Amino acid sequence: MPISKTINSAQLLGQTQEHLSYLSDKVAIHQEMTSAYIALAKAAKEDGIELSIASGFRSFERQVMLWNNKFSGKTAIKNAGGETLIHSSLSSLDLMHSILLYSALPGASRHHWGCDIDIYAPNLLPDNYQLQLEPWEYSEQGPMANLSAWLAEHAHRHGFYFPYLKFQGGVAEEPWHLSYAPIAQRYQQAFDLTSLSDALSQSEVLGKELIVANLDQIASRYINNICAIPADIKLTS
Ligand SMILES: [Zn+2]
Repeated sequence: MPISKTINSAQLLGQTQEHLSYLSDKVAIHQEMTSAYIALAKAAKEDGIELSIASGFRSFERQVMLWNNKFSGKTAIKNAGGETLIHSSLSSLDLMHSILLYSALPGASRHHWGCDIDIYAPNLLPDNYQLQLEPWEYSEQGPMANLSAWLAEHAHRHGFYFPYLKFQGGVAEEPWHLSYAPIAQRYQQAFDLTSLSDALSQSEVLGKELIVANLDQIASRYINNICAIPADIKLTS
């Protein structure tokens, strides 16, 4: 299998699948992360936790659809307190920031890279319970409490960490979002705003003029404003 050591802008922007391996019909991850993920899942299973990926790779086009549904008002947008916002009462700028709290800008989602995954444990779910991916579900009171505790203890030695573990004024807390540091740090370093700006300008993203005009601010508040890679992490794949 070819190993894609070279990162290009199509991979950074979610516009190719050349760097991926499919684990099932719907879930693809970075091909260089497959063995690390399998090792993580095996270790979890030995401790009674079955790992499953709710969302792995997501394409630019898919992220455009999610973004446009929110920007047009088709999908409800909530504020940090969980209340649904009234779409018609928001300025375009407020609308943009409200979406960015929970949804990445197309071209700037870490899910484009394939080395970031949303994780849960189906065997910890109560019968007939539909997981919402809300922070309380991963807290000590939630159904994913044992998963969170296990990952806090074991993820780093497998190279995984949580880029959205805490709210830092940008993206909301996402205790289900794991990133494989040996690969993610290379994508983070290669990320470039000019390519993102070009891709957005050529896309069908709603509000793109406003986004491009505010791109530096968006980058520092949301895209680059992530928790640091922990010092104790295993960085060799
Ligand atoms: Zn995620």
